[in-house]
Amino acid sequence: MAKIVLKGLAHSYLKNPHSDSDYALKTMNLTWDNGGAYALLGPSGCGKTTLLNIISGLIKPSQGHVLFDGKDVTQLSPEHRNIAQVFQFPVIYDTMTVFDNLAFPLRNRGMRGIELKKRVEHVAELLELTSDLKYRASGLTADAKQKVSLGRGLVRNDVTAILFDEPLTVIDPHLKWILRSKLKQIHSEFKHTFIYVTHDQIEALTFADQVVIMLDGRIVQTGTPQDLFENPLHTFVGFFIGSPGMNLIPCSVMNGFAILDNGEKIKLKQQLENYQVSKNTEMVLGIRPEFVKIKQNKVEDSIPCRIKDIENLGTYKMATVLTGDIELKAKLHEDSDLAKGNAWLLFPPEQTKIYADQQLIDIRGAN
Ligand code: ADP
Ligand code: MG
Repeated sequence: MAKIVLKGLAHSYLKNPHSDSDYALKTMNLTWDNGGAYALLGPSGCGKTTLLNIISGLIKPSQGHVLFDGKDVTQLSPEHRNIAQVFQFPVIYDTMTVFDNLAFPLRNRGMRGIELKKRVEHVAELLELTSDLKYRASGLTADAKQKVSLGRGLVRNDVTAILFDEPLTVIDPHLKWILRSKLKQIHSEFKHTFIYVTHDQIEALTFADQVVIMLDGRIVQTGTPQDLFENPLHTFVGFFIGSPGMNLIPCSVMNGFAILDNGEKIKLKQQLENYQVSKNTEMVLGIRPEFVKIKQNKVEDSIPCRIKDIENLGTYKMATVLTGDIELKAKLHEDSDLAKGNAWLLFPPEQTKIYADQQLIDIRGAN
């Protein structure tokens, strides 16, 4: 195991990249701590696989360095990096038995006998493959083949890190849930550095202690699931994390208030009072549906609204609310007796964020 550091890393698939848009990965610096459970989360095409392949050595970056425990491995081939990688689709030997497939990475490194048998059997047991061990892999279902692929990634205990590239894509939804919990359990048992790539926020948030969020070749935030929920540094994080995501409302900011397009004023945290922005900056107010309050009667700092719809979702209700023609979502308690019609909206200042060109305004520096 090792600490993995990415230093000034950037990658373009083009021979002669000119502009930012020619780069699949824009310049980034990132540290993956030894033994961490990380998720790399972002929409399709944002550069997740490229980044993973640079860490494993399948791709040499156009710029920058990859360090394992301080050692520069940028030019080393995958075989010399001691990384296990599990891909989106099964990579197994169809003609071998499940046992031999799982044993392959160990035999490759010279392991034999009882030690090998023990490790293979242990991993097979964790993945519920014990009864398949003696059969040829060719006869397995797609799910079981991918479990063998996972097993081949997990079987070695001497790896620097295990990289998973959307490994549950081909897995049936029910089994997906089981395997995800298994992976978490396996991480706490083996304590390897896990980097788990996914475009599914639920998968990322349930698996990882630290989630790295990527958009368009950049890392927009790294944090615990709670950080990402409570303090999105970028509107994309607000929108992508949460269900539904953060309400994002265009506004202008003046004298400690956010002014919405319909003229309604929302009181902000004191520190934002004198924040100066240039004319062309796009200002957006962000608040999560969980934090918006709806009141039956006017209270201090509330603004008028109309409840358009209330959906009962079992353990909570989700209201769709209009202020002017601006629509937002507000999560209500399951016992809430609010009904459609006129009401008042309250934006608690602590949870009301302001974004300038998609970046959170750091209120500590905004005086
Ligand atoms: P993700 O895994 O997040 O879906 P990728 O890393 O696969 O994203 O792709 C990032 C960007 O790089 C995309 O725009 C994709 O089209 C481009 N890309 C990926 N692989 C190649 C390649 N082999 N040659 C050229 N462009 C590529
Ligand atoms: Mg990918």
